[in-house]
Amino acid sequence: MRKVIPFGRRAVAPNTPRDVEANCAHRNLRLVEQSDIVMCAVCHATLSPIWALSMLSEQYAFAMAHIDRLKSRIELADARILELSQELDAMLPGEKKPE
Ligand SMILES: [Zn+2]
Repeated sequence: MRKVIPFGRRAVAPNTPRDVEANCAHRNLRLVEQSDIVMCAVCHATLSPIWALSMLSEQYAFAMAHIDRLKSRIELADARILELSQELDAMLPGEKKPE
C-alpha cells in the first residue's frame, strides 16, 4: 500500500497588487508633497487625505487610551507597594522574615 503524503493548501497564483491592497489596513502612510496626495507605503494605494486623517486620529485615540490604562496600572502598583511597605514597617523586628 502506498503512503499518501498530505500537502498544505497553496495559492495557485501569487497575490496581485489588487489582492494586497484589499487585505491592507493602510497603516503606513506616505505623503507625496509634489502631488498633494497620501499613499499607502505598503500597497501603494492612493488614499483620501480625509480618510488618512481619520485613521490617524483613531490610532492616536487608541494609543492614548492604552497609555491611560498603563498609568492606571502603575498607580495601582504604587499604591500596593506603599501598602506593603507600611505593613512591613508596622511589623516588629522579630516578625520580619530574613531574605
Ligand atoms: Zn495599504
